[in-house]
Formats: sequence, C-alpha cells, structure tokens
Amino acid sequence: MLKFVDIAAKRPDKREAKERRADWGEVYRDFAAERAGEQASRCSQCGVPFCQIHCPVQNNIPDWLMLTAAGRLQEAYEVSSATNNFPEICGRICPQDLLCEGNCVIEKGFDSVTIGAVERYITDTAFENGWVKPASPARERPESIGIIGAGPGGLAAAEMLRRQGYQVHVYDRYDRVGGLLIYGIPNFKLDKKIIQRRAQLLIDGGVKFHLNFEVGRDASLSELRARHEAILIATGAYKSRDIKVPGVGLKNIHMAMDYLTASNRKGLGDTVPRFEDGGLNAEGKNIVVIGGGDTAMDCVRTAIRQNAKSVTCLYRRDRVNMPGSLQEVTHAEEEGVNFAWLSAPEAFVGDSAVEGVRAVHIHLGVADASGRQSPQPIAGSSHTHAADIAIKALGFDPEDLPTLFDAPELDVTRWGTVKVDWNSMMTNLDGVFAAGDIVRGASLVVLAIGDGRDAAAAIHRYIGARAVPLEEAI
Ligand SMILES: Cc1cc2nc3c(=O)[nH]c(=O)nc-3n(C[C@H](O)[C@H](O)[C@H](O)COP(=O)(O)OP(=O)(O)OC[C@H]3O[C@@H](n4cnc5c(N)ncnc54)[C@H](O)[C@@H]3O)c2cc1C
Repeated sequence: MLKFVDIAAKRPDKREAKERRADWGEVYRDFAAERAGEQASRCSQCGVPFCQIHCPVQNNIPDWLMLTAAGRLQEAYEVSSATNNFPEICGRICPQDLLCEGNCVIEKGFDSVTIGAVERYITDTAFENGWVKPASPARERPESIGIIGAGPGGLAAAEMLRRQGYQVHVYDRYDRVGGLLIYGIPNFKLDKKIIQRRAQLLIDGGVKFHLNFEVGRDASLSELRARHEAILIATGAYKSRDIKVPGVGLKNIHMAMDYLTASNRKGLGDTVPRFEDGGLNAEGKNIVVIGGGDTAMDCVRTAIRQNAKSVTCLYRRDRVNMPGSLQEVTHAEEEGVNFAWLSAPEAFVGDSAVEGVRAVHIHLGVADASGRQSPQPIAGSSHTHAADIAIKALGFDPEDLPTLFDAPELDVTRWGTVKVDWNSMMTNLDGVFAAGDIVRGASLVVLAIGDGRDAAAAIHRYIGARAVPLEEAI
C-alpha cells in the first residue's frame, strides 16, 4: 500500500470520443488485473478514511482496496458487497468526484485513488467467477412485504428482506425491473445487461415481481396494506419540471424522460412509435437541450449517438456552476456537444413545430441565500439557436402520491416528498415505510440503495417487535 508516492493515478483506458459517438458502449474499458491491483495499492490506508465517511453506504473502501492490491479478490468482493447491494452499478455511475474520490486524502497533488474503477473491477470479476449468488435465506418466514417501485431503492430493500426469509413482492408500473436504471440512464453510462443480470438474481432468490402494476390504478395503498405485513414506498420522483415561456406548446418540444425512455426502449429492442415517426429521434436534426444536470448530459450525449446534426446545451450558469458531475460534462464536450453557457431560454419559436430556441445571455450577480450567484438576464442580448427538437431537462419533483394512491392520510412535505421518521424510515402510517427519491427528491442511486437497506432493516425490526412474545406463544 501507500504506493501513491511513486505510482500515478490511472483510470481504465478511455475510449476515443470518435469511437464512443458511433456506439452505445461505456466510456471506459475494463481494468486489466495488474492495473487494478496497482491502482488499489496507491491507497494510503489513512487512519480516518474520508472516502468511507463520504460514501452514503459507508463502504469499507480502504479494506477492499487492500484486498485487491493483495490479489484477494473474492474477499474484496465480500467486503464491498457487505455494504452495497449493487457495487457494479455504483462503480459505474456514482459521482465519485463528489463522494469518495473527491474526499480521498491523497487527492491534493497526488490524485485520488481511482476507487470507482476498482469497485467496478472487483464486482465484474466476482460475476465472471460465479461468486455472486442469489439470496438463499436460512429459513422461510411467513410474513410478506410489499414494495412499490423496482428502482434501486426498492431492489436493495427487496434483496435485504429476502435474505431474512421474508416473502417479498415488488410492484412496478413499468414492464421491466430497474426504475431509472433501465429507462432513464443511457447504456453508455450503464449497460442494460447489468441491470437485467441483477433482476434475474433477485428472481432466482425468490423475489416476486408484479410488473405493469400501477398502485393507484390496479390497487390502492390500503388494499396493498391489507395484503402485506409491511409496505415500502420507493416510487421515485417523476414529475418533470416545466418551463413557462412563449411557444412552449409547439410540436417537438419534449420532456427529458420521454426522450430518454424512447431511446432506452429502442436500445432494448422495443417498437417505439414516437421514435419511429421521428418525433423522438434526433437523427439529422438540430437539438437544443435546456438544463445543466446529469439528465441534461444524458440527453445531449444520447442525441450525439443518434447522429444529430448539431447538439447544443443551454445552461443559465457557467461550467463551474453546473449541478451535474464535471466528468460527465467533459465527456459531452469531447463527444462534440456545444455548450451555450450563461444562456437562458426566453421563448420557443416556430409556426406549429419548434424551429428555434430564443435565449438571452446571463450575468451572474451576487450570491443569494443559498450561496449561489443569481442569474440576471443581460438586456438586448437575445439570440436564437436552431432547433428541430427541444428537450426540457429541468429536474423532477415527486408525483402527488396521496391522490395517486387514494391515500389522503399519507403525510407529505410541502415539496411533495413522503415524510418519514429518519430513525425508522416509517411514514405516519403504521407499517408503511418509504425510501429513495420519493423521500429525498431527485437524488442519487447510491442514496436510494442506502435508504432501501435502512428501510429493510427497519421493517425487520418492526416485524420483530410485532412478533408474539415467547411466553404467549407457548
Ligand atoms: C436521466 C437520469 C440520469 C441519472 N444519472 C444518475 C447517475 O449517473 N448517477 C446517480 O447516482 N444517479 C443518477 N440519476 C438519479 C437516480 O437514477 C435516482 O436517484 C434513483 O434511480 C432513485 O431510485 P429510486 O429507487 O428512489 O427510484 P426510481 O429509480 O425512479 O424507481 C422508482 C420505480 O417506481 C415505479 N413507480 C412509480 N410510481 C409507481 C406506482 N404508482 N405504482 C407502481 N410503480 C411505481 C417506477 O416505475 C420506477 O420503476 C439519474 C436520474 C435521471 C433521471
């Protein structure tokens, strides 16, 4: 260990932008075994591992780095998977620059240990060697748990509860398992086979999926409560934020999720009429994406791969103030996206369909209460970006669950997120728990996984506390 002194930080080889633009493969190639061990050996094994502290699931990172450096990969996998149900997913799409790697103590001047890439390598190796097994509980329990939502939060909880022997039923309105992992995040960040492999493991472990099942349409919350001993709500945040400017009703102005879902479905082999008729296909067109977060980056990079004529990202702040991961912005720049920094949309122009987005230049003024400089339009700076398709990627809010679930008694915050007691992850309704984006607002996969694990532990305690005391059972 401590090799950071003479070994430089190296990520797995990055594929050339030209090659990436032509397919849907991931950006980085796999680590070679010797490179993974060498990079893991750069860890300083510091006394207070800030990487672990800043990991939402508290991964024992220094331990699995040390085991990887020693070539003890099966043990490295066991340590890594003890705190995270889906390390191969987090290794690929966690914003490590903001979490573990951004807090590595050798970051200053030496470059952080490439934690995410090693994590991905460990788990990919574990799958190749058959070390990843479905849940096999020591004994079956009679209690059944209903989970609403098959995204990372719901799936992590499902696995943890199944390992305890509960009868786990997951309900999802989509036709596939994975939530945003399957229909939001594109293949070039996370290959769909990785999610399908996990879904199969859960099925093999005894989790029952009820797909195309929308709570609110196919059953109310109270009906599900009557079916199960406990319920977990993990429905994510899907209400797209809109923009109120003239022309917003023109044809070919889309919400980011509609665009990404169509593209992901197409990649999975589905027939998608709105893609087939060109409405949601960027090929040969000028595309303008409005927004600066990870969703916007996924849209611009998807449009590049669909062979758009031009792709412009309109963002009202500058590069350093982008809410998304800077690594993603760099990938997008390399792949040929034009960034119109400090530009805010004023109007969509066109007759019946959009032909352009009129934007105004922005000056960043004094910081507001949140500490961010407030964007101020510069008078007389209007200009127009040609657009055959415009995509709004302005973030997401939770849907109105009390109405949707026919459960007005369910407490939500003023932002619409479900209120929980953070010690128990329980809502105001007895035996109803919640996890992931529906509690936090649009957030991160690793936080949803962490919440799902916490909720599973809380449900186990809740069921245990309700069990008949031994003296009464005799
Ligand atoms: C385009 C995009 C890119 C992203 N990129 C990243 C990234 O790179 N890294 C990262 O860490 N995070 C990323 N995120 C955020 C991340 O995907 C979410 O934080 C995470 O998926 C939340 O998990 P979840 O389980 O709470 O909800 P979701 O993944 O949203 O899953 C919720 C599930 O609930 C189902 N559902 C909803 N309502 C009902 C109902 N009434 N009945 C039945 N089922 C229902 C939905 O169909 C869905 O399957 C991205 C998000 C988007 C939109």
